[in-house]
Amino acid sequence: MNASADAATAQRRLPWHDAAWARLCLALRDDRLPHGLLFSGVAGVGKAVLAQHLANALVCQTPLPSGDPCGSCRSCRLSAVGHHPDIHWYRPEEGSRVIKVEAIRALTDASVLTVGGSGRSVFLIDPADGMNGAAANALLKTLEEPVGGAVLILISANSDRLPATIRSRCQPVVLAPPSPADGQAWLVAQGLPADQSTRLLGLYGGAPLAALQGAATEQLAKLDEQWRQLERLADGRGDPVALAASWDADDLAGLLDWLIVWTLDLIRLQAAPGSVPRFDPAAVARFQTLANRLDCRDLHGFLDCLYELRRRLTSNINSLLALEKVLLDWTRLTARTP
Ligand SMILES: [Zn+2]
Repeated sequence: MNASADAATAQRRLPWHDAAWARLCLALRDDRLPHGLLFSGVAGVGKAVLAQHLANALVCQTPLPSGDPCGSCRSCRLSAVGHHPDIHWYRPEEGSRVIKVEAIRALTDASVLTVGGSGRSVFLIDPADGMNGAAANALLKTLEEPVGGAVLILISANSDRLPATIRSRCQPVVLAPPSPADGQAWLVAQGLPADQSTRLLGLYGGAPLAALQGAATEQLAKLDEQWRQLERLADGRGDPVALAASWDADDLAGLLDWLIVWTLDLIRLQAAPGSVPRFDPAAVARFQTLANRLDCRDLHGFLDCLYELRRRLTSNINSLLALEKVLLDWTRLTARTP
């Protein structure tokens, strides 16, 4: 393997993962990589990218001195197209947010039965907090009785929602976002304008992949429009029920996240007039005008309801009805004068 190929392979890692990768490589080299790993960090920081890279390295036949997979052996070619027989991903089924016990039982069977040609099997569960209680219990047994050569990688942006019994049996790998300057430089290198990069990074907790995805799906224009629609409701114009129907209730979790961002911005501007709204630094005047005429307790009550709904999302609720209620509450609270 020559130096340029080495560099090309290393580039498949994200630059802000260097420190975490170095620690993993050290463990790999000393043959003390734990049987269970928990990759955590905000959504879009690249947890699955690094987990896949580690899985590729574990099954690679001729890893590089850096610990990276070689990128050219038969194993690496299979990994690259997602067909390596010893790398198993477990994700919720289409249209679901839950990883069911049946899937985890299949994993526990597979981990016993197959440690393939590479001498390793890697099982990746993403998101691990998507496992229901029965699934988590089924996994616990495998974590307690490791099978030689099997590595379990749990991936979660909400690792605090995992049972303590699961967390305590995994070694944490915490992935932090890059510094704002490094994140912006990376996004600009991907072709994003600098000002857009800054705003997107601010909106997505500094997570570059989430920011990039937001740009690809034109999230900023969509969110700006949704915020304008909320302002119209606050001005006594528009119909909350019709607005709920026009929003994508299937993505209630995503909508709640943004409603929480907007509400927190208003609360912050009430407490510290003139501070910069996280949603849009350029919209400080509009946010301040609205913040000034709202009742502080009403806003905190609204925020509590949003958090509560966010917590209950995994149970069976009617997303459209829940969204209608949120927008009706918003209309009511903004119609009141303190
Ligand atoms: Zn290889």
